[in-house]
Amino acid sequence: MLDPKIVAELESVVGEQFVLTTPEDLIAYSYDATFTSAKPDLIVLPANTQQVSEVLKVANREIIPVVTRGMGSGLAAGSIPFGGGIVLALTRMDRLLEIDRDNMMATAEAGIIASELADAVAREGYLYPPDPTSDSYSTLGGNIACNAGGARCLKYGITGHYVMALEVVLADGRIMRLGGKATKNVTGYDLVHLIVGSEGTLAVVTEATVRFIAAPETERMAQAFFPKLVDAGRAINAVLASGANPSMIEIMDETAIRSVEEFLHMGLPLDIEAILLIQTDGDEADATRGIEIAAEICRQNGATEVQVAATPQERKDMWLARGSISGSLGRIRPNKLGEDVTVPHSAIPEMIARIKDISAKHDLPIVIFGHAGDGNLHPNILFDKRDPEESHRVEAAVGDLFRASVEMGGSLSGEHGVGVLKKPYLELALGPIAVEMQKRIKQAWDPNNILNPGKIFD
Ligand SMILES: Cc1cc2nc3c(=O)[nH]c(=O)nc-3n(C[C@H](O)[C@H](O)[C@H](O)COP(=O)(O)OP(=O)(O)OC[C@H]3O[C@@H](n4cnc5c(N)ncnc54)[C@H](O)[C@@H]3O)c2cc1C
Repeated sequence: MLDPKIVAELESVVGEQFVLTTPEDLIAYSYDATFTSAKPDLIVLPANTQQVSEVLKVANREIIPVVTRGMGSGLAAGSIPFGGGIVLALTRMDRLLEIDRDNMMATAEAGIIASELADAVAREGYLYPPDPTSDSYSTLGGNIACNAGGARCLKYGITGHYVMALEVVLADGRIMRLGGKATKNVTGYDLVHLIVGSEGTLAVVTEATVRFIAAPETERMAQAFFPKLVDAGRAINAVLASGANPSMIEIMDETAIRSVEEFLHMGLPLDIEAILLIQTDGDEADATRGIEIAAEICRQNGATEVQVAATPQERKDMWLARGSISGSLGRIRPNKLGEDVTVPHSAIPEMIARIKDISAKHDLPIVIFGHAGDGNLHPNILFDKRDPEESHRVEAAVGDLFRASVEMGGSLSGEHGVGVLKKPYLELALGPIAVEMQKRIKQAWDPNNILNPGKIFD
């Protein structure tokens, strides 16, 4: 419980109705999209950067933890207030401030829903490429804090590649602007991209300027059915090495296919081990040629059927299966641990085989799906957290997963971040010297350790 005088001070900053303290509110803000939870002391909903600054001044003076929160869709327990304190929810700061057509950049407050920003850019005839599957229920600030990726990142890169400038509030409440609209800028350290991916541990992002690009004229999509999962893995590498130039290659394994089919009854075949979903884009000729090349390569690598979408609606239907996997898995087991390990894409067939071995070794269903084209697999371990013995096996399986990806030259996380769940494995991935340097950066930015304490490292 916070001292009532401090609560009153925070209320005087943001207004009484924007400091939430009821038991219901505390529970509502105690979760993200993982299976963990912890209640804050209170929730503060600022309306602008100045209010964020005033809240942080109070928190820094009183050494109160501040957990910045977007939509709470994170998959690393990054926005859960394990040490109590203030949840600083930025959802009221959701204004689109500018679309600058001349420079092809948009500026928005950090709490804007990511897909609303992308839609606004699309209405102008342009493309904001970062497309996390969660873009309609995650914020721009959350995407920046986690350096979110998505299916299209294979061709167009991740959120950080599009962030040009930031307004941030430091732990002591000072407001700082970083970067700008000049495309080239090597004046000093690249602090913009230090903040990108910092998971709310270095500063609170309050505003961002992102660049957008010319929209491709058209898109083509195909789905290929593989009786053998390893053949799908090989096909991914062959498509990437061809001239198909795909904008996405997504994979679904047999458990994912079955789970979606039992949920949506789309007529997906249940006697195959994998579906690859491939998209190309560009002008009509390039996109069509690309999808034909990819389809032929899939056939040569063991696909028994390749369907090419003839209409935008058929494309949407194909994506519906991939986009519905996460939600459908709750039908199999009550809990899931969704990891996002990456490997170099040449190692995908081997990584898939290793995940299958880990699943058998620990006797746990592990569903494989994700952005396979950029080597970012989402092995989802399905379990029941009420069973301590099963939860113990999950922990052991996670360790094996991380060791496998690091051994293959990959990483713990392609897009979800470290948060709390991957913290024990940070040194395995980075080595002790890099971890020490990261801790020194944290110390410099947040000497009182009030910003999301205990996330990324202790
Ligand atoms: C079904 C599902 C599918 C998903 N698919 C993808 C995907 O395809 N790609 C992907 O990358 N992720 C995906 N995610 C994960 C998640 O949506 C992303 O990590 C997203 O970027 C989190 O945004 P958020 O606004 O919900 O942030 P939150 O969950 O609220 O916070 C996440 C982290 O960011 C910090 N943070 C939030 N806002 C700010 C801010 N303004 N300033 C500083 N720090 C801040 C928090 O402190 C926390 O550490 C998925 C999640 C779900 C549930």
